[in-house]
Amino acid sequence: MTLSLGLPAVRRAPESAPPTDGRPDAPELVDRFGRVARDLRISITERCSLRCTYCMPEQGLPSIARENLLTPAEIARLVAIAVRDLGVHDIRFTGGEPLMRADLETIVELSSAVAGDASISMTTNGIGLDKRIDDLVAAGLTRINISLDTVDRDHFARLTRRDRLPAVFAGIEAAKRAGITPLKINAVLMRDTLAGAADLLEWSLNNGAQLRFIEQMPLDADEAWARDNMVSAAELLEVLGSRFELVLAGREDPAAPAEEWLVNGWVQNDRPATVGIIASVTRSFCEACDRTRITAEGTVRSCLFGDDETDLRALLRDGSDDAAIADRWRAAQWGKQAGHGIQRPDFVRPVRSMGAIGG
Ligand code: SAM
Ligand code: SF4
Repeated sequence: MTLSLGLPAVRRAPESAPPTDGRPDAPELVDRFGRVARDLRISITERCSLRCTYCMPEQGLPSIARENLLTPAEIARLVAIAVRDLGVHDIRFTGGEPLMRADLETIVELSSAVAGDASISMTTNGIGLDKRIDDLVAAGLTRINISLDTVDRDHFARLTRRDRLPAVFAGIEAAKRAGITPLKINAVLMRDTLAGAADLLEWSLNNGAQLRFIEQMPLDADEAWARDNMVSAAELLEVLGSRFELVLAGREDPAAPAEEWLVNGWVQNDRPATVGIIASVTRSFCEACDRTRITAEGTVRSCLFGDDETDLRALLRDGSDDAAIADRWRAAQWGKQAGHGIQRPDFVRPVRSMGAIGG
């Protein structure tokens, strides 16, 4: 069965819960490979103020009808179930661009009220953050990752198809002023970004931001990604090594996607400075993946690369109780695939692109 909500069709799990043969009677979101999901990514929109070439098509994604988007109350109910019944520790709002939702403050406020000790964070391109940061922090947002691939304005305009670098800088400044520490910056590695990678690291070190580079994954709507042409973590290390002395420090915890490197001679926030590298393709960390995802229309997507999605929105709207929703979510997670399989010759790209899933 396919699901088409204005976005590319994806396979939808049957209305009844997916099979759970052999699943242990555990409250958590366990899968067949022994992994437990503690980190929940919730996409809240497909809309965006940028058109990054590694993510969105030039014209943007087809819009989702308003009635098909989860409401703030529905999102908060899923957060409550995730934290209370399923053992989730970290909640992150993403998209598309979360700041495109006018009710983001309400989403954060209702969610943080039921999130207990779980962290509430957001991944954003930072555009418009300066005007909303105080309300978002007051609503309960504690951590922010801002995406920034280059500090060169012309290059930024080409990469994102929008001349908005000053607006991103304003967002970063505002987050710092609001006391968001450490402020994290995500940068996707592209062939033409590589030359500016050391400048971006130097800028981050000088601006109190913790930088992480991410290998580009085949999740661009334009389908231009090619394994032969993608920039690997090894290539990046060579480029950074010409300006900085880097020493491998390892992962913050085993499920952390980034390997951290100490930048010798630099101090940041009174600690030795580091740069992170997420080698999603060349050094996949799927075996330690602890993520579960909800799309903007309320389907569980247990893997970025798994098009099988399980609809929770129907349960949220048909009077089902929290226990039924938790069970359906556990069943969906049990079916999570082993890994992305990008290196396999029979690899097939997922139907949805990154902006339509929620990165
Ligand atoms: N709009 C927000 C932003 O850009 O931060 C949130 C959504 S965006 C899809 C989430 C993250 O996914 C960003 O850090 C972005 O750089 C990353 N991303 C997008 N497409 C990617 C790709 N093809 N490979 C790796 N990371 C990607
Ligand atoms: Fe928008 Fe984020 Fe995708 Fe860039 S990466 S197009 S900012 S959703």
